[in-house]
Amino acid sequence: MTEDVFKKSTANLKKAVPLMMKNHVAATPANYALWYTYVDNSIPRLNHELESVIESYGICPPAAGDQLYQRHVASQVETKLSDLRANIEILVGEIASSMSDTLSDTSQFSDMIDKSFKNLERVENENMSIDDVMGVIRQLVAESRDIRHSTSFLSSQLTTASSEITKLKNQLAEVQREALFDSLSGLYNRRSFDNDIRTLCQSGQSFCLILADIDHFKTYNDNYGHLFGDSVIRGLSRRLQSSCRDGIIAYRFGGEEFALIVPNRAMRVARQFAESLRRAVEKLSIKDRRSGKQVGNITASFGVSERIENESAEQLIERTDHLLYEAKQLGRNRVMPI
Ligand code: GH3
Ligand code: MG
Ligand code: MG
Repeated sequence: MTEDVFKKSTANLKKAVPLMMKNHVAATPANYALWYTYVDNSIPRLNHELESVIESYGICPPAAGDQLYQRHVASQVETKLSDLRANIEILVGEIASSMSDTLSDTSQFSDMIDKSFKNLERVENENMSIDDVMGVIRQLVAESRDIRHSTSFLSSQLTTASSEITKLKNQLAEVQREALFDSLSGLYNRRSFDNDIRTLCQSGQSFCLILADIDHFKTYNDNYGHLFGDSVIRGLSRRLQSSCRDGIIAYRFGGEEFALIVPNRAMRVARQFAESLRRAVEKLSIKDRRSGKQVGNITASFGVSERIENESAEQLIERTDHLLYEAKQLGRNRVMPI
């Protein structure tokens, strides 16, 4: 991190925190990112909207804050990560500086003791007056009081800082999770997929792509409700995840669509793997909480393709999607190509 970025994030931190307190905003990573962006003035529309929320409510209610965060900040996850890192660096900097204060106090104290002992030696040699002796002792007492003060200050600083660091570390881990994973399915999200497939294509690696789409998924939503639909997505995701081995990674591609990247395997192997997924999905049954009934007959269609040389991620996805479309056309619950 460059000096300037560090300075700027320190300044923003100092501005954002008091504003958050004033507006009764909880110190969550999302809120911090929101208020950081606000004081940073980098998204004028956000500032305008946030100010009008405060004007209406007097404070910033959590839901309004969440919404603003989602709308303006959530897409810029990298910013959040670097901000949290900056926070940790600021904390570490503060501890280091109070540590060096204490160390210099300590060395001043030992110089002082040396001097005092020399003075005390003079008591015998030079017949110092009782007042002079008292003076030396008073100085010692005062200095040792200072040093005790500064050590206990450091130790309380360290305790606060270490719990603060633990909190920030957890928040950082949480933000990193949000950035990579889909919260409903627990699988890697679309963003991870896009990054991974682009990187693989650029590196010229050979791999296969499987795209899967749940058949007639809309009817589950229509017949049993959206929450049941969510359970189907979760159940199927678990099934996909538990079938993954040999470096295969499953992603939630979108709504009821999934992608799997099969590294370093021939088309034939990837196709067999897709076929085993298809059969595993067929066996799935999900309980409908409202009626208590087990709902089965869940199926999905699959398209499989192997990346050909110089093919871009977009071309590969499009080719695989076309095969998936053919699987749907041919009656669903199948893997294409045959
Ligand atoms: P097909 O066999 O052709 O794929 O039919 P389908 O009904 O599965 O496909 P369609 O694209 O018509 O409908 C997909 C539906 O999935 C529409 C959308 O409301 C629903 N959906 C998307 N994401 C979610 C989600 O996260 N939860 C729930 N419950 N439904 C979702
Ligand atoms: Mg679909
Ligand atoms: Mg579908």
